[in-house]
Amino acid sequence: MTAQEELRRRVADFLAVHDPRSTPALGWLQARYDAGLAWVHFPVGHGGLGLPRSLQGEVDELFAAAGGPDNRPRVNMIGLGMAAPTILAFGTEAQKKRFLRPLWTGEEIWCQLFSEPGAGSDLAALGTRAVRDGDEWVVNGQKVWTSGAQNAQWAILVARTDPDRRKHAGITYFLCPMSEPGIEVRPLRQITGEAEFNEVFLTDVRISDEWRLGEQGNGWRIANTTLNNERVAIGGRPVPREDGMIGIVARNWREHPERRTPDLHHQLMELWVEAEVARLTSIRLAQKLATGQEPGPEGSAMKLTFARISQALSGLELELNGADGLRYGDWTMTRPEEVHFLSKDAGHRYLRAKGNSIEGGTSEILKNVVAERVLGLPAEPRFDKDLPWKELQR
Ligand SMILES: Cc1cc2nc3c(=O)[nH]c(=O)nc-3n(C[C@H](O)[C@H](O)[C@H](O)COP(=O)(O)OP(=O)(O)OC[C@H]3O[C@@H](n4cnc5c(N)ncnc54)[C@H](O)[C@@H]3O)c2cc1C
Repeated sequence: MTAQEELRRRVADFLAVHDPRSTPALGWLQARYDAGLAWVHFPVGHGGLGLPRSLQGEVDELFAAAGGPDNRPRVNMIGLGMAAPTILAFGTEAQKKRFLRPLWTGEEIWCQLFSEPGAGSDLAALGTRAVRDGDEWVVNGQKVWTSGAQNAQWAILVARTDPDRRKHAGITYFLCPMSEPGIEVRPLRQITGEAEFNEVFLTDVRISDEWRLGEQGNGWRIANTTLNNERVAIGGRPVPREDGMIGIVARNWREHPERRTPDLHHQLMELWVEAEVARLTSIRLAQKLATGQEPGPEGSAMKLTFARISQALSGLELELNGADGLRYGDWTMTRPEEVHFLSKDAGHRYLRAKGNSIEGGTSEILKNVVAERVLGLPAEPRFDKDLPWKELQR
């Protein structure tokens, strides 16, 4: 029996015992994790069976077709897309045991405490301090643009532990309980009127050394694993043809012949081709991941392309809609659990798309990554690379 046939048999056996129609959603998801059918490429005991990642898609489809509940992937994108692969790569056995199951089932939602005022693109300049006190770390500082912090139970956090070392070397990675006293989450309202993200203030927050991920001072390397996965999570998901923004605009075009002009036609055709090239590239990237290779700079290229096309299409949609396109809700502040990009109106989409070229690394920075690591062009001059962090001008 091939691995694929064996996996199909396991899914059928699981469904025979756990009927999604009669099993409560959480219990069903926990049982699926325990059966190794959550992330099939993860190790046995951690939601997987150690199988090739390429088999995951079929397992997900079989369960979805049987009416299985999902684990709220859009609400827990940071947990599933970024925290999980990083904990798997760098966590101790005890950390994997503690965190991966409730993360996968959606019982625990995660957010990402990376960006700071003054340390966004240059994340390695971050100034949030973590000072060791016995078996704990005492953390002080401010984070910003923290998506979903209002819903999160846990955060991935990078903090400075060695100010005497150069900026990339003095950072440590923590798993931070968001319920800890001293953590204050304040909403930040975006151009759409919604507050998806927050400022997070950390004042004498105590984190057990048990929740340090990896070695002290190795946080930069670990954060890079998270960031590479983030770009893939944002821009590298394989999708069906005419999914997302291109589908919305193409439908608009088909349904409203009165809105067509030769110029808009030309723009739509160009963007349709670009969207299709991006989609095929994302399939190629997924195939690379399926063979066990780590996401590399092509994740940056995907994210870059996604942001550019999304902004161009949301602008084209407004032009197609004419005066109607300018209508935009009532700007009531809401605290969404997830980014409702496609279900909102065109005006909302246009405004929200502005963030696509900033979130998860700005387009300028991603172009630098592609220039250096794909095209082999000379690196940006980095005058502060070898200076101790405490001597940097801030
Ligand atoms: C919707 C949204 C959600 C977000 N969610 C999160 C989150 O959950 N957690 C989190 O930690 N962060 C989050 N962020 C933050 C995001 O990662 C940062 O905003 C981003 O990394 C840019 O940092 P900055 O805002 O400090 O801009 P800066 O780094 O100050 O950059 C300002 C401008 O200068 C350009 N620039 C800077 N350096 C260079 C260079 N070397 N070469 C060329 N151009 C350069 C940038 O590209 C940009 O255009 C989110 C942002 C958005 C918009």
